[in-house]
Formats: sequence, C-alpha cells, structure tokens
Amino acid sequence: MVDTLRDKGLRKKLVDSLRNKGIEDVRVLNALNKVPRHFFMDSSFKSFAYSDKAFPIASGQTISQPYTVAFQTKLLEVKSGDKILEIGTGSGYQCAILLEMGARVYSIERHRELFINAGELLRKMKYNPHLFWGDGYLGKPSYAPFDKILITAGATFVPETLKEQIKAGGVIVAPVGNEKTQVMTRLTKLEDENFKTEEFGYFSFVPFIKGQQ
Ligand code: SAH
Repeated sequence: MVDTLRDKGLRKKLVDSLRNKGIEDVRVLNALNKVPRHFFMDSSFKSFAYSDKAFPIASGQTISQPYTVAFQTKLLEVKSGDKILEIGTGSGYQCAILLEMGARVYSIERHRELFINAGELLRKMKYNPHLFWGDGYLGKPSYAPFDKILITAGATFVPETLKEQIKAGGVIVAPVGNEKTQVMTRLTKLEDENFKTEEFGYFSFVPFIKGQQ
C-alpha cells in the first residue's frame, strides 16, 4: 500500500474537478483528498482510481463514483462524533470517508467476501469501523438509534426498520427508484416521527437486495 506523489497529485486534480462539478463542502473535499482511493480498487483498475467513475470490485459489485460519494456525504452533513449506519460496505471507501470526517461508522455488507476485504484494508489503514456481515434491510437494532443512515445501494423503498433506527432530527440518505435509475433522496425525521422528504436528482447504483450472501 503505497501512496505516491503521483497518486496524491491525481487525487488533488480529481478533487478540483469535483469542486467544479458543484461539490462545495470543504470538509467533504478534504476527506476525498486524504483517502487513497486506489487502495480500495481491484488491481486491474488501480491506474484509473482518480477518474470520476464507478469500477467493478469483488462479488459483482462496484465502488461508487467519487462524485456520488461526495454528493451523498455532503447530504449527510457529517459532524465529528456522528453515529452513522452505512448500508453496503462494498470496498470500504465511503466508510473511510465518513471515518476521516470523525464519524463513528457502523457498516453492513451482504457479501461475505467484501465484508472481509474491507475489514482487512480499513484496519491496515488504522481506521476503526464497526463492520457487519448481514442484511442491511434489518439495520442494526442493537446499536440504534443512529444520527444518520446512508444507503449506498439502489433501493425501491426505504425499509421501515431503518426509519425506526434513526433519531428525531436525524437523516437518511438513499437512492430510491427502480433497478436502473434512482432519485437521491434525503429523509429527515421530525419530532412527530413523520419524515420530511427532499430529492436531489438522478443516480444509478447496484441494487439493494434482501438477505445476506
Ligand atoms: N459504499 C460502497 C458502495 C458499494 S456498492 C463503496 O464505497 O464501495 C453497494 C453495496 O451494497 C454492494 O457491495 C452490495 O453488496 C451492498 N448491498 C446490497 N444489498 C445489501 C443488503 N441488503 N445489505 C447489505 N449490503 C447490501
């Protein structure tokens, strides 16, 4: 695991391009500038790590596009110490971004291979997430309530179980739609347990599938 000057330079360029695409949150941009994305990529794609694209990882899944990671992170309005539940650990990259911003992260992945790989890598990088192999539809009731929940797979709906595991005033960020396209959605839990809904444009994620593998 080497982070060369060239990697750092390419990363800086990527972050500049995200700023040009409208990501203004400096804390989000700083986190993306800090975390070496190439550590999270399959060896055959490492040289493309700093292009703004999604790439295949193990178990037929993808590491999200940096713009998408930045966009979801911005919508979460992460504060240091926030307790965040991530659904879909995947490569562990988004998890690292949240940890870098000082969040306490609980992340669930349905594919055992990804759960193991992400854990090994994040520990090597000296991060300390709480990772689980399981079904994100169930959330993590034993660790609830959370300040925030981030779904990083395309959902057809936001499960009630997850809505129950968020604090009043907390937010859920999730791409909601069909198999092909989803609308980035932010739900804010109000004092009366209802949710305010905001929508932020179209994205395309791998599907949020019930059950663990
Ligand atoms: N956050 C990841 C994105 C991975 S893609 C990253 O930064 O790399 C979405 C991930 O969600 C995939 O790894 C997929 O296996 C996982 N996923 C889909 N349905 C799930 C479920 N029910 N529970 C947990 N993880 C799920």
